[in-house]
Amino acid sequence: MSTIVWFRGKDLRLDHPPAVAEAGADAIHLFVLDPFFFAPERAQQMRHRIQFLLDSLRELSAEIQRRGGRLICIRGRSDTVVPKFAKTVGATRVVAMRWTEPVGRKRDQRVAARMEIPLVLLEGETLVPPGTVRSQSGTPYAVFSPFNRALRRMPLAATPPAAPLHFTPPAVDIEGFDMAAIPTEESLGFTRNPNILKGGVSAASARLKAFIDGPASRYTEARDRMDMAGTSRLSADIKFGLLHPRRIWDAVMESDLPEHERNKFADELVWREFNYSTLWDRPEVLSAPFKPAWEGFPWVDDDDRLTAWKTGQTGYPVVDAAARQLIETGYVHNRARMVAASFFTKHLRLDYRLGESHYMQWLTDGDWASNNMGWQWAAGCGADAQPWFRIFNPMTQGRRFDPQGEYVKRWVPELAKLDPKFVHAPWEAPELLLRVAGVQLGITYPHPIVDHKTAREEFLSVAKQHMN
Ligand SMILES: Cc1cc2nc3c(=O)[nH]c(=O)nc-3n(C[C@H](O)[C@H](O)[C@H](O)COP(=O)(O)OP(=O)(O)OC[C@H]3O[C@@H](n4cnc5c(N)ncnc54)[C@H](O)[C@@H]3O)c2cc1C
Repeated sequence: MSTIVWFRGKDLRLDHPPAVAEAGADAIHLFVLDPFFFAPERAQQMRHRIQFLLDSLRELSAEIQRRGGRLICIRGRSDTVVPKFAKTVGATRVVAMRWTEPVGRKRDQRVAARMEIPLVLLEGETLVPPGTVRSQSGTPYAVFSPFNRALRRMPLAATPPAAPLHFTPPAVDIEGFDMAAIPTEESLGFTRNPNILKGGVSAASARLKAFIDGPASRYTEARDRMDMAGTSRLSADIKFGLLHPRRIWDAVMESDLPEHERNKFADELVWREFNYSTLWDRPEVLSAPFKPAWEGFPWVDDDDRLTAWKTGQTGYPVVDAAARQLIETGYVHNRARMVAASFFTKHLRLDYRLGESHYMQWLTDGDWASNNMGWQWAAGCGADAQPWFRIFNPMTQGRRFDPQGEYVKRWVPELAKLDPKFVHAPWEAPELLLRVAGVQLGITYPHPIVDHKTAREEFLSVAKQHMN
């Protein structure tokens, strides 16, 4: 009996994905370079994620080889390649990790329909299977706190057994397939960004250890500070399945960290579960607001505003720092994401879907569920979202969570010499201080693109009218 283990990019680890352990030592390990992700024009649109994925794929392939096996990479559409490959090698089943996203669910339906053998989909991406946390009346939760309480009463995914230490090399002669080496970034038409986190299980495991040994002990306080490395930076590792969330959960919950720190971190992992569950139950959230009242909201169509926000030229330092951190490093601090997305949807009144897709283009951890829910949260139209009438003040947020302006100064070097007192509102600085710091508003750094107070009032008035 031969089993194909089909890796699909959200499961790039060898130990503990149920599919690998389940398939056994003589399985054939397959990765399909589907043009949906790997056509150069597509890959270039998500280059940071592809770079991270390629690192991870290379390490996975090397590890399979070290254990005597081989990761077979084939170019082509998954729904054509997998059924054909399975037939050619005489496989009796294909096992893979289930995806929550509609694009993956549809792909799997097509693949299953084209095969005469079973496509066995196993859990492995969440702590509990999406769609299983239910209220007493059996309905999905639309609010985080009761979801969190209910999830914590449930049995969490068991850590599956480790993969075999030795694989049997696949004795298959594969003709008629477009076999390929793992592509290089250059072959996909872009160059590596040295500022992106390194992918692969070893780097991810090191990040987990460094977090527990370091910032985890003051996570509650430091996680909101944009000027500190106070969070785990595990989001891309989780997204690409380098670490099973259960492994992270156990590492933190079984550590000797103070209980409130453990619980605060666990809450964040549960936010991800909440997002996955919501997407599972309501796949349409990827194109429409979670709250129907937001349908037809009068967003503003303004390319100049959009470009200024994307390029970090709005004149609001925290918002601009977030925009530039994103492009340069593929990451944005969570607090800065919230402020930038709030500014985008409320001060600039741009459709949250435009911001969401820009983030998907550049984030290394860009994740359909969490990114969509993050944007809908900020706009006010999502599940358990920030109420629409609550509007972040970017200056207050900056002063509170970046008190010395170090985050801003790191990403907006034009303001590096400005007195920290004015770094979050340079237009309030006396002319002399601006001159000493080499800041010429409107020349070296833009004037605010909109007036905070006016933009706030306009949004509130438009939103109130729309909601009534
Ligand atoms: C507008 C916006 C867009 C976002 N887009 C994404 C995205 O594409 N991918 C993504 O993983 N997260 C996204 N988030 C959530 C959050 O910003 C990131 O998960 C977090 O910044 C990642 O850094 P970290 O791993 O150091 O987080 P930590 O604070 O160390 O958190 C640990 C883990 O918990 C999960 N987590 C933390 N906060 C959240 C949250 N609010 N929602 C869901 N899961 C969370 C992540 O898996 C994270 O790695 C978004 C938030 C907003 C406001």
